[in-house]
Amino acid sequence: MIDRSPGQTSPARLTGWGRIAPTVAELARPCRPDQVPALLRGAPPRGAIARGLGRSYNNAAQNDGGLVIQTTRMNGIIALDPRAGLVTCEAGVSLEQLMIAALPDGWFVPVSPGTRQVTVGGAIAADVHGKNHHKAGSFAQHVPWLELLLPGGEVRQVSSVSDPELFWATAGGMGLTGVILRAQVRLTKVETSRVSVDTVRTANLDDAMAYLEATDDTFGYTVAWMDCLATGASLGRSVITSGEFATLDQLAPADRREPLAFRPIARIGAPAAFPPGLLNRHTVALANEVWYRKAPRRRVGEIQTIGTFFHPLDGIRNWNRVYGPAGFLQYQYAVPAGQDATVRRSVEMISAARAPSFITVLKRFGPGSPGYLSFPIEGWTLALDFPARTPGLAGLLSRLDELVAEAGGRVYLAKDSRLSPEMLAAMYPRLEEFRQVRKQLDPAGLLASDLSRRLRL
Ligand SMILES: Cc1cc2nc3c(=O)[nH]c(=O)nc-3n(C[C@H](O)[C@H](O)[C@H](O)COP(=O)(O)OP(=O)(O)OC[C@H]3O[C@@H](n4cnc5c(N)ncnc54)[C@H](O)[C@@H]3O)c2cc1C
Repeated sequence: MIDRSPGQTSPARLTGWGRIAPTVAELARPCRPDQVPALLRGAPPRGAIARGLGRSYNNAAQNDGGLVIQTTRMNGIIALDPRAGLVTCEAGVSLEQLMIAALPDGWFVPVSPGTRQVTVGGAIAADVHGKNHHKAGSFAQHVPWLELLLPGGEVRQVSSVSDPELFWATAGGMGLTGVILRAQVRLTKVETSRVSVDTVRTANLDDAMAYLEATDDTFGYTVAWMDCLATGASLGRSVITSGEFATLDQLAPADRREPLAFRPIARIGAPAAFPPGLLNRHTVALANEVWYRKAPRRRVGEIQTIGTFFHPLDGIRNWNRVYGPAGFLQYQYAVPAGQDATVRRSVEMISAARAPSFITVLKRFGPGSPGYLSFPIEGWTLALDFPARTPGLAGLLSRLDELVAEAGGRVYLAKDSRLSPEMLAAMYPRLEEFRQVRKQLDPAGLLASDLSRRLRL
């Protein structure tokens, strides 16, 4: 991309990670937080929205015909206190950058999604969760304060103590309360940069859920990969990987010399083009079979790198292209604890529809945060990736919406591409409070995204 002065913008065709709904916006790429207020003041009538690394799956960080302020050049780490494990940084700093900076002193990010290519601003705005949600909660719960540029132009330091309403509207608020300029993040102490991982293969969904429930207290990090196309007695068969950061004495002698080493691997690129339809119910069923069979029935204490355990997909740059030009969509729901029958019903529906999700992940959430639109609630979450052109997908997902809403659950906005405003209201009981905060902060509706327009956020 050509270098421009920070105030300049140029038209850009933007999508989310799923590459399904491109729109054109004026794109600005400021280098410093103090350049953002002027950009916001000069926003066109369609308003403005912040964008980080564009890893939300659909159009939360797009603004058709408006302004998009990409923060990735505002990527300075301002201070890192190695004793307290507190880092202060600009909002465009990525989680990978934080890992590179903090691991040598024995600190890791408090919460990591399945990719480390997300910004601190994006992690707060979606209040992201990781494999440790059942123990550590979501990202914003580890943010002592953030600095927010409000739609009116004021820059305010906001904490959950000084300004709880604004803080919790911003955490999970999908960029609609202001532009986060800087933030402080409380890191997690680790003795090494490796993870001791137990792997268990379960014969079906019931066994997977029972194992996850029984081991809640045992592991800091857990997730189940599920074969969503398995049927009958094998319905929901899974491979569960659970881990803890390894202690020094768990490492092989050669690794003990550099116990905190972290070298994000040189990432290989996916080919520029894949044939349409490469991923379909036949190829995904085959891949699932191979993946499931290759997993050990039970393996204990395997030492893995951060990349292998937390971010396996980051090893392949632009892996999203494997879905072909039509792209793909993610569907992730959460339902309250005790809704095991709903999870089972949803897996039956997906399996019966032969809807080929390449990556299907089941996890237990701990208690949710006070974020008005934060996604996690205590209970179960299931995430699925479907090729956008899967036959019958729209109907299946609408039926899943109804099932989830009836169970008191919700769909994750950072991944959503198709929810209706009515369904959103049924799923997020604090939506009206969020809208009230927005109305007070931004009566003219300066902040807007393709997502916010569709959902009337
Ligand atoms: C492979 C993969 C795995 C993932 N795994 C998980 C997971 O395990 N858990 C999970 O929770 N999520 C997961 N995600 C989703 C991802 O973590 C979130 O969508 C995250 O918000 C992306 O951050 P980003 O910097 O790319 O933000 P973008 O996608 O660019 O933006 C996301 C939202 O944040 C807002 N935003 C960004 N920067 C700012 C700012 N400075 N100020 C105000 N608002 C801002 C945008 O307006 C938008 O609404 C995954 C995504 C991928 C691609």
